[in-house]
Amino acid sequence: MTEFGGRRISHWIDGKTWAGEPERTGEVFDPATGEVRAHVDFAGAGEVAEAVAAAARALPGWRETSLAGRSRVLFAFRELLAARRDELARIITAEHGKVLSDAAGEVQRALENVEYACGAPQLLKGGFSENASRGVDVYSIAQPLGVVGVISPFNFPAMVPLWFVPNAIACGNTVVLKPSEKDPSASVFLAELFAEAGLPPGVLNVLHGDKVAVDGLLEHPDVRGVSFVGSTPVARHVYETGTRRGKRVQALGGAKNHMVVLPDADLDLAADAAVSAGFGSAGERCMAVSVVVAVDPVGDELVRRIAERMGRLRVGDGRDPDSEMGPLVSAAHRERVRSYVDAGEAAGAELVVDGRHTTEGPGFWLGPTLFDRVEPHMTIYTDEIFGPVLSVVRTPSYDAALDLVNANPYGNGTAIFTTDGGAARRYQNEVEVGMVGVNVPIPVPVGYYSFGGWKDSLFGDSHAYGPDGFHFFTRTKVVTSRWPDPSHGGVNLGFPRNT
Ligand code: NAD
Repeated sequence: MTEFGGRRISHWIDGKTWAGEPERTGEVFDPATGEVRAHVDFAGAGEVAEAVAAAARALPGWRETSLAGRSRVLFAFRELLAARRDELARIITAEHGKVLSDAAGEVQRALENVEYACGAPQLLKGGFSENASRGVDVYSIAQPLGVVGVISPFNFPAMVPLWFVPNAIACGNTVVLKPSEKDPSASVFLAELFAEAGLPPGVLNVLHGDKVAVDGLLEHPDVRGVSFVGSTPVARHVYETGTRRGKRVQALGGAKNHMVVLPDADLDLAADAAVSAGFGSAGERCMAVSVVVAVDPVGDELVRRIAERMGRLRVGDGRDPDSEMGPLVSAAHRERVRSYVDAGEAAGAELVVDGRHTTEGPGFWLGPTLFDRVEPHMTIYTDEIFGPVLSVVRTPSYDAALDLVNANPYGNGTAIFTTDGGAARRYQNEVEVGMVGVNVPIPVPVGYYSFGGWKDSLFGDSHAYGPDGFHFFTRTKVVTSRWPDPSHGGVNLGFPRNT
């Protein structure tokens, strides 16, 4: 196993660490200390070609591997991952900064996706209709797309790759994974674990880098499908470029998730949820709650209870078991988030808790921040901040809250807090968002459903993992078959009719 203690992180191509010399590299930081812990190779056109060629070479053999053989590898991988989950959590914390318990939660959710993919023999069964016409049978077959690209963001360096890779390979595809250059080690760890589980060389390749690597995959004619997760502008670019090249693309983008609190809600439950979902992983989750919509008259009391809980949050190094919230991923991101806090204050929002005082020290720190009386025109409302900044917008009624949520261009997740089942049912019906929580602040679907937002939060028509994942990674073929018997005969120029 690779030692992640420092120096160089390189590509994993054809079942081994790439031995070439990179033209460019990037720094990988420990966000809690601000130190450079490693350098990661950045792929150029040559490395993209090498990785895709390795995946293309592995395709015929893997595609022909029996369903039992493929699922056996996934079962073995599942066992290895479960046994080494703590090690992976430590790798995630070291490069991302999230606290260890949160990283362990990420690995646990990732395991769910692996477990789902282990059911490939059941999930890949097609339909069969005997006697669709007299003596004619019709059946469907699900076949792999071929070589597929998976491009993932920094915020879930293990879980997001495992939203796609297990399903893709279960379906018989081969994969080039391009993880975030900010925390690339988790992907290498996963590739090594897959190799140990018996996955043949070339079925999963890890290619590090930035836009050059991504665009190389999008332009490569042998890449047939792309699953992307990241910010909305890049998701749109990936979707448009990939589909223009005739590829199947699913591109999941950014978010601005609203949590609506109705007057009859349990306010302690709502305040706990707002703080957990707003500041968990320092707000660097695509399902983080970034806007609390307080329906009159709950605003004053809700803000008081949220602020009171925030005062008790322990911010610190993710490796310290006492820490509840770690640093941001990079110095540049910390500055960007901080500039939003400055802008919110300048725009006249009420700064109830100011986290900017926590920015001292060499790590990329920013404390939990709360704004009240935020207006929809302010940038702290319009933009995805992706940091520990929670905004409270006050509305006079349920209808005004619903209009606010539905007018937002993002539609990833949302939650409603209420004790009124009728109101909750109305919200789940009327809200234009892909994932809805009822008294649940982060409604990430379990592995046997699919994950995806609406509007600017997802480009394409398939959501990630679960049934949609199997749909995305296969092409179906329908066979109409007749085996002539002695009764057959005669020319008929009419359009085939079922008799
Ligand atoms: P990002 O868009 O900066 O990067 C995502 C991936 O795209 C990375 O692998 C990166 O190397 C690559 N990339 C970056 N810029 C590129 C460019 N100009 N051209 C081509 N490729 C490029 O996102 P991030 O900062 O790593 O992650 C945070 C974002 O991801 C947030 O917007 C968050 O909401 C989103 N996200 C969404 C979901 C979801 O399911 N909808 C899940 C997790 C994260």
